[in-house]
Amino acid sequence: MDFSRYLKQYPDADGRFGKYGGAYLPEQLIPAFKEITHAYQTICHSSDFINELRRIRKEFQGRPTPVYHCKTLSRKLGSCQIYLKREDLNHTGAHKLNHCMGEGLLAQFMGKKRIIAETGAGQHGVALATAAAFFGLDCTIYMGEVDIAKQAPNVARMKILGAEVVPVSTGLKTLKEAVDAAFEDYLQNYETTIYCIGSAVGPHPFPMMVRDFQYVVGVEAREQFQEMMGFLPDVVTACVGGGSNSIGFFLPFVNDPVDIVGVEPLGRGKEMGDHAASMSYGTEGVMHGFDSIMLKDAEGNPAPVYSIASGLDYPSVGPEHAFLRDVGRVKYEVASDEDAVDAFFKLSRYEGIIPALESSHAVAYAMKLAKQMGTGSILVNLSGRGDKDLDYVIDHYGYGEKYADFD
Ligand SMILES: *Cc1c(COP(=O)(O)O)cnc(C)c1O
Repeated sequence: MDFSRYLKQYPDADGRFGKYGGAYLPEQLIPAFKEITHAYQTICHSSDFINELRRIRKEFQGRPTPVYHCKTLSRKLGSCQIYLKREDLNHTGAHKLNHCMGEGLLAQFMGKKRIIAETGAGQHGVALATAAAFFGLDCTIYMGEVDIAKQAPNVARMKILGAEVVPVSTGLKTLKEAVDAAFEDYLQNYETTIYCIGSAVGPHPFPMMVRDFQYVVGVEAREQFQEMMGFLPDVVTACVGGGSNSIGFFLPFVNDPVDIVGVEPLGRGKEMGDHAASMSYGTEGVMHGFDSIMLKDAEGNPAPVYSIASGLDYPSVGPEHAFLRDVGRVKYEVASDEDAVDAFFKLSRYEGIIPALESSHAVAYAMKLAKQMGTGSILVNLSGRGDKDLDYVIDHYGYGEKYADFD
């Protein structure tokens, strides 16, 4: 396949990446999503929008984030060199703000007064509440009661940022019920409100918009690496939950002679319910309004999923990833909880960077690959910082003495 005009060709007018993607919506919401698509396709070409987004990225988010060479970690593994794109240094500590600021700016340009979303662990909620505060928009975040109890610091952040956090007490009181509640709200309020999806998933135009807003990560990284080294990396890699940090990081390399690898969470193992490696173990299906690869139970419903990294435990994946795998451009590998924890401690101890457990999956894969390759270079998207994970990690793994050594 020829990738030289890839971005212009995909998705098509119906939001399709090959057979994946699209928009499977209740009748009443079709006009609302069409309105967003139309507005985005107009606004994203306006110089006011582009200039404002640039200013926000520079002055508010602190972009560009640097590319960093992990000298010590690389030396411990052999001669292959590992580099990090430091999205952990983005304001609020992860890549999610890249698309939330874009979604907030779009809401402002469309004259909407309110943005809403669901959140699981609270990371998307905090990023969206940050954008709402910046743009002076009302913000409502739906969150299951079980998650609220587990994620007190993120709930506090959202409230301090001025968002309303609505506890959802139906069903299992977690993410799925929060999604339903947010959709319900959107059905009532789509004239004043945008429902901001938290990854490169959901009905068209969200996989495309979120990708476009994350694209800056890969553009910067490619330029920075080239400037630093005079050539491109042999491999680029990132963790894949819904697929937002990875898609934005990957696409600027899609027409280069560079291997691209997404890393999914293997959790505790291959059994259903123990992992969230949709691409590795899933099949095609439709859920949450789009066609992609998904993990299904015996009845064909979304399967239970698990990962130590709550940002990765989603039973499907963005449709563009499914497409890029089918055409053979991106490969998908897995890293387990144990691999991720090992990488978490090693990157902390040998480079002074405490990574998010999500990002640790990509670091783990890079460490394994570096040993195999023996030479060359790997550029990893470090999607976020690990402060949010410290309590959990210390409770379960202490201070990581047993992960200090390389074997
Ligand atoms: C949410 C999150 C992820 C996973 O989301 P993607 O959409 O797959 O990028 C990865 N890393 C961090 C730090 C996150 O907060």
